[in-house]
Amino acid sequence: MVDPKIKKIKEYAIDNNVPIMQDEGINYLTTFIIKHNIRNILEIGTAIGYSAIQMALTNKDVKVTTVERDEKRYLEAVKNVKDFDLEDKIHLIFNDATNLKVDGSYDLIFLDAAKSQNITFFNNFKNNLEDNGYIITDNMSFHGFVNKDEKEIKSRNLRGLVRKIKEYKNFLEESNEYTTKFLDIGDGLAITNRKKD
Ligand code: SAM
Repeated sequence: MVDPKIKKIKEYAIDNNVPIMQDEGINYLTTFIIKHNIRNILEIGTAIGYSAIQMALTNKDVKVTTVERDEKRYLEAVKNVKDFDLEDKIHLIFNDATNLKVDGSYDLIFLDAAKSQNITFFNNFKNNLEDNGYIITDNMSFHGFVNKDEKEIKSRNLRGLVRKIKEYKNFLEESNEYTTKFLDIGDGLAITNRKKD
């Protein structure tokens, strides 16, 4: 049975047009955290705290630091984290992640903020990644648009966004330092880790 508090957050997200992870994506992510014994997570893009809470609930030792630039969403996340008594496990940061520097090292960095800025986020936080850590990026297929013929996408903004996601995909594929698996799960996930010698 779904926790009624989780249900409430999901309903708020629908009612207020807040994009949160799809069920398939969050299930994969939480299973991944358990399987890889992940302890310290940095999330870029808190929204209202849904994924941060789900990740923090996987294990008593998991800690999440998460960044959100939208004040209304950040305040809603503060409320939700309190509601789950997870203040000791989830550190919420109200800031723009583009230029932000964070302390500490993480065995998982989850990129789920502005899809056009993933290369910036990746470069900004890659030094916070532990040697054997993972960077997971959501929305690699962006509701199926990334695999569509560009001519079929009517909106100019959407075409721009899709191009940025493709650029990020190339950036990951061409990296000499990192290796990436692309999974057709939820809205498309990229799982990146450092290449071994
Ligand atoms: N991870 C959340 C979940 O599944 O519950 C969903 C995050 S939502 C897809 C993306 C969020 O990233 C939005 O709330 C947006 O305001 C935030 N965001 C976008 N660009 C950002 C930036 N540069 N710095 C911080 N937050 C950003």
